[in-house]
Amino acid sequence: MTPFLLVLSSPSGGGKTTIARRLLASRKDIGYSVSATTRAMRPGEVNGRDYWFLSEEEFEAKVMAGEFLEHASYHGRRYGTLRTEVERHFAAGRHVVLDIEVNGARQVRRQMSGAVLVFVIPPTGAALVERLAARRTEDRAALEGRLAIATDELAVAGEYDYVVVNEELERAVQDVAGILEAESRRVCRQDDLESRTERLRREVADAVRRL
Ligand code: 5GP
Repeated sequence: MTPFLLVLSSPSGGGKTTIARRLLASRKDIGYSVSATTRAMRPGEVNGRDYWFLSEEEFEAKVMAGEFLEHASYHGRRYGTLRTEVERHFAAGRHVVLDIEVNGARQVRRQMSGAVLVFVIPPTGAALVERLAARRTEDRAALEGRLAIATDELAVAGEYDYVVVNEELERAVQDVAGILEAESRRVCRQDDLESRTERLRREVADAVRRL
């Protein structure tokens, strides 16, 4: 089967990163694309696991060298998907999860025809604000900035293929896993379909002869 990109977007605090981590922990057929960013590392984050943390100069050099599949600015910082991240998982036959914002998702849509785009929304506005505030990774100004972007991002949910409501985490993870299962069964992704059906036809003919 041809592996594909699974793009997860949501407003900041919407839960896409947690959903992606849960999904990755439970299945071996998907890999995570570690993005590059110029934002500061948060406590507990690890370079190469959560992000590749780069200086502005390093990031720009990679843009110039064409190393990004997509890249965008978010709240004054730069973020991008490295082609090498996607390629290493595809080479191993794994689907690749991208946890990216909406402008990057649009670029992926244009460049990768088989990509599946999922938008994760919170059940209520209050839930989103509470989750983001509870994370305590931002001061008040940054929090308000992210919430302003979140409001804009919600407006483009209609550009995605699927919408998942993250009211209860386990349910949302199951929903995304269901999308992955259904998408992997699409005829266009079955590169061995012809040989399989041909073999089945031969087997049926053999079995009929033996009747
Ligand atoms: P955070 O700073 O909270 O980790 O991420 C901020 C936003 O940037 C989130 O919406 C996240 O999904 C997005 N983001 C993370 N990596 C990438 C990337 O490689 N490309 C793009 N376009 N957005 C990204």
